[in-house]
Amino acid sequence: NSAPTLATDALPQPRDGIAGAAPYGAPQLEVEHALNVNENPYGPSPELAASIGRAAADAAVGLNRYPDREALDLRTDLGEYLAAESGIAAPPLESVWAANGSNEIMHQLLLAFGGPGRTALGFTPHYSMYPEYARDTYTRWVTAERGPEPEFALTAEAVTAAIAAHEPNIVVLTSPNNPTGTALTLDVVEAAAAALAPSRGLLVVDEAYGEFRRDGVPSALTLLDRHPNIVVTRTMSKAFALAGARLGYLVAHPAIVDAVRVVRLPYHLSAVTQAVARAALAHREELLGKVALLRSERDALAEHLVARGHDVAPSDANFILFRTFSDRDAVFEALLDRSVLVRAVGPAGWLRVSIGTPENNTAFRTALEEADPR
Ligand code: PMP
Repeated sequence: NSAPTLATDALPQPRDGIAGAAPYGAPQLEVEHALNVNENPYGPSPELAASIGRAAADAAVGLNRYPDREALDLRTDLGEYLAAESGIAAPPLESVWAANGSNEIMHQLLLAFGGPGRTALGFTPHYSMYPEYARDTYTRWVTAERGPEPEFALTAEAVTAAIAAHEPNIVVLTSPNNPTGTALTLDVVEAAAAALAPSRGLLVVDEAYGEFRRDGVPSALTLLDRHPNIVVTRTMSKAFALAGARLGYLVAHPAIVDAVRVVRLPYHLSAVTQAVARAALAHREELLGKVALLRSERDALAEHLVARGHDVAPSDANFILFRTFSDRDAVFEALLDRSVLVRAVGPAGWLRVSIGTPENNTAFRTALEEADPR
């Protein structure tokens, strides 16, 4: 109760766009089944937690010093991981960049390549933060629509037409997409890269959920050699089960990385973060060990929802967007009453549920029977 009782209009006012805006974020509630922010439900084992703790302790000995501003070792490790994950040759560290979550990566990209007089294009429904990166960086944010529900598909023709209509400096394609779960085939990504090339536009492919994609869906990383205007962003928050550590990264032409290095704050990535991320990468088999289970749980839940009669967006991610039978906000609340927290995002009438442990997923199914009866 120490807040001064000053009239707020007597205080300095934030600039247009910030004044009156609410900070972004899903509710953080204590529930039994947190299925709302697409986390990996499996935390590290006690052994791995101890190993990560030792890495943090080693870093702590040097905390009087600033961290490696360039995060050279971490960027090298990330490149090696991507080579193993995507079947590409390990990108040199000059092509890899890391920051505090892919949120900060995207913010830095928009700082360097957006700005006054510049336009960024996305496809709705999209991740809610994109317009906020644009707002923060004075970039104009424009959108085109994905194809009709429940597929929410994006075709090479639609992407090319939207680029011709809006002439953007930046295009953001998300694969698999949040909140729909839709993965893009590479022809769509290539069409966008080619359409942007004449105007030297940047194509950002957000692969935050990349590791959950189905076999046979290649990463846009495989296109970087042929299309130097592509940036692929990734995160350790989802499949890698490390959301709490805050580590996102990108792969791009070294010149693009160099531009991002100009706008990054000095020492943005703490020594503890770097050490923790490297320890996690060294134990990637364990951390990624549940991805196959989460994928099969996803497919089983999608089948279950279809069998119940829901419209379901085909998902390559660790969540499913589905249409409720009754008012989605009422269904959301009825699920919450049963300690199941999901997310009301996407078009009106749809809810998004993250894939949890089999126990979480069973609890969700049971709760849905009562929360949204057929
Ligand atoms: N991109 C997409 C599509 C996301 O869904 C998210 C997280 N919800 C992010 C980026 C940011 O994740 P992080 O900052 O944890 O890497």
